[in-house]
Amino acid sequence: HPVAVFSSSFHKMPSNQARVVILGTGGTIAGTAATAADGVGYDAAQLSVQTLVAAVPALSEVPLECEQVAQIDSRHMSYALWQLLAQRVAHHLARAEVAGVVITHGTDTLEETAYFLHRVLAPNKPVVLTAAMRPATALLADGPQNLFDAVQTALAPGARGVVVAMAGAVDHAADVRKRHSYRVDAFDSGEAGPIACIEEGRLRLLRDWPHGAALGLDGVAHDPATWPRVDLVTSHAGADGAMVRAMAATGTRGIVVAGTGNGTVHQDLEAALREVQAQGVRILRATRCAEGGVVGEAAGALPSAGTLSPVKARIELLLELLS
Ligand code: ASP
Repeated sequence: HPVAVFSSSFHKMPSNQARVVILGTGGTIAGTAATAADGVGYDAAQLSVQTLVAAVPALSEVPLECEQVAQIDSRHMSYALWQLLAQRVAHHLARAEVAGVVITHGTDTLEETAYFLHRVLAPNKPVVLTAAMRPATALLADGPQNLFDAVQTALAPGARGVVVAMAGAVDHAADVRKRHSYRVDAFDSGEAGPIACIEEGRLRLLRDWPHGAALGLDGVAHDPATWPRVDLVTSHAGADGAMVRAMAATGTRGIVVAGTGNGTVHQDLEAALREVQAQGVRILRATRCAEGGVVGEAAGALPSAGTLSPVKARIELLLELLS
């Protein structure tokens, strides 16, 4: 996907005044439908980030800058855009006058982008991803409130790390998952719980802001076309090794298996995973369960992804292979 980058200063403000930078990438939050009653038959990624900000009058009080980094439906998220986004976020966070960065994003791959940025940047300032489950034209569009809440989160005292602000909650990139395909309250952190609730523009803190060690931008500086392929397979009744052998034959460097229960894998699938592991393909074993991770690691078991969901384990393996 071609990526258009442009910056514009939304407000006239003194050059050293503390501000929030809003990076637009598209998604349903920037989507439009032909009728206000249509919550599913819309086109994502139609409105500019400046237009989204202009729809929230309360944000006219806040010093903001907007930058359209991309305009895509996030189901098409690419490594090239992840690389660019990480670079733009790092660029803005390094500016003394920037208090934090907000990213408007589609909900489909939001947890993946959040985890990628968390592992690469683990920033001391807040990076707040936000989104919407209804297009901007909907009768009850959730985007404007989510955008307002995301900016409040970026300005909250002590805020830090990569987080997601959606439907009145702040979740950490490491824990957050999209758990519902349609409901406005589509994301949560499972048993880890949210970092904060956002009520009337104020954060009520429930646990500490995230800390973490950044892998840094060097590993993701290579041409994204050369990033290793890391695939995902699921264990299920009647599973066999055909997919895994095809992946290895076509050049995969890593495979995450979303196992049943506590990361258990059908014997025929496991046989193929061990076969390709012996050929040098890296394997990580996660669980397809919506809650919980892989607990314990029996001697000789395929390597565990611990508490990571399958899609986040895939990113972890990708970043390991890149480093
Ligand atoms: N397909 C959309 C996207 O991820 C869905 C959304 O934003 O809710 O961009």
